[in-house]
Amino acid sequence: MAAGEFADWQDSLRQRLTSVTWPNEFEEIVEKLSTGIPLSLQDGVKLFKSKDLNTIGSLANHVKQSRFGNNAYFNVNVHVNQTNICTLACKFCAFRRGRRAADAYQLEIDEYIEDLRKYSTFVDEVHSVGGLHPEWDVQHYSELFRRVKQEFPHIHIKALTAVEIKHIASLSKISVHDTLKILMESGLGSLPGGGAEILDDDIREIICRGKESSQEYLDIHKTAHLLGIPTNCTMLFGTIETIEHRVNHMLRLRDLQQETDGFQCFVPYPFLPDDSRLPDAQLATGTEILRVVSISRLMLNNIPHIKAYRMNFGDNIAELALQFGADDIDGTVQKESIMHLAGSTAPLDHDKAMLAKLVNNAGCVPVQRNTTYSEFTEYIAPVEPVKRSLRMAVGD
Ligand code: SF4
Repeated sequence: MAAGEFADWQDSLRQRLTSVTWPNEFEEIVEKLSTGIPLSLQDGVKLFKSKDLNTIGSLANHVKQSRFGNNAYFNVNVHVNQTNICTLACKFCAFRRGRRAADAYQLEIDEYIEDLRKYSTFVDEVHSVGGLHPEWDVQHYSELFRRVKQEFPHIHIKALTAVEIKHIASLSKISVHDTLKILMESGLGSLPGGGAEILDDDIREIICRGKESSQEYLDIHKTAHLLGIPTNCTMLFGTIETIEHRVNHMLRLRDLQQETDGFQCFVPYPFLPDDSRLPDAQLATGTEILRVVSISRLMLNNIPHIKAYRMNFGDNIAELALQFGADDIDGTVQKESIMHLAGSTAPLDHDKAMLAKLVNNAGCVPVQRNTTYSEFTEYIAPVEPVKRSLRMAVGD
């Protein structure tokens, strides 16, 4: 963020926070927020332990409003999950399949293109993540992305999580840097943030053994940022982690952002336990989700956007999250497998008008954005034609 922009935003936040009387337990935190001092691990833990969710949500909403006013952003995108075949078997994952499974699939390049073609006239982003395919190396993805850009030059390719990049680099026997560079030159526009889970190696050893380490996740994103590829970052919460793990996770992302300024958006989402191999984990409650969203907004003062990921939260909680510090409600999505196989029932067929309705219900202004948050258009609902009753002029 540019220094001037930060100063304006901070000024507006100070004015907002000092015009309200806050409960005593938040005095120190409000003081830090007002003066631009980043919250500490202890502050984050205190927020997680506080019973006063309303005040936490209100603080987060003030931070969001000081920066984005009443705007809530969405985009018009489609998810294409290119394969569910994966060489790993993360315990929380209900999506992956072994190669010989009856329902294993892989979209060949032509199939992927034809799939995307169905949506290509109205989307401006394809979001593609999938399993770690044992043969698809950098050549495969390079050809795929070139074909996408050739056929649909207006579509931004947001694809491949950090672990997929690591896997492709290793299969191709080249560095992560060179992998990203080749993919960028082939049309890759940005990376989604998936796979961060919890940035703690003890937790990762239990829930996703074999995946990239915490440091590798950060290093891959840092490499992307230094190449000029923007990325998002995520947090999967509600498996086996503690509150301290969650706050530390946020701090590690904040530290990298301080260095590179390459994260666009933070996307926290709760674990959906259906069909996973973590039977003791419980589905997060609505208030827990809202608490995580709010605390993300307060802790991550240098990551501009906080997403209410409706594919995972469901529409109702996502709508509420826009009042608890989130400024983005994701996109039209159209098709999605990963969250839905884990138990999500979020509707997939939302058009712009439906997303705008969700945003309006939360008291916000719907603003369509592109993937990189550099183009914005306020969504104005088309005026409904006035329905007139037709009378048959028979005999009168
Ligand atoms: S989360 Fe990703 S890497 Fe892990 S098993 Fe699922 S598809 Fe594979």
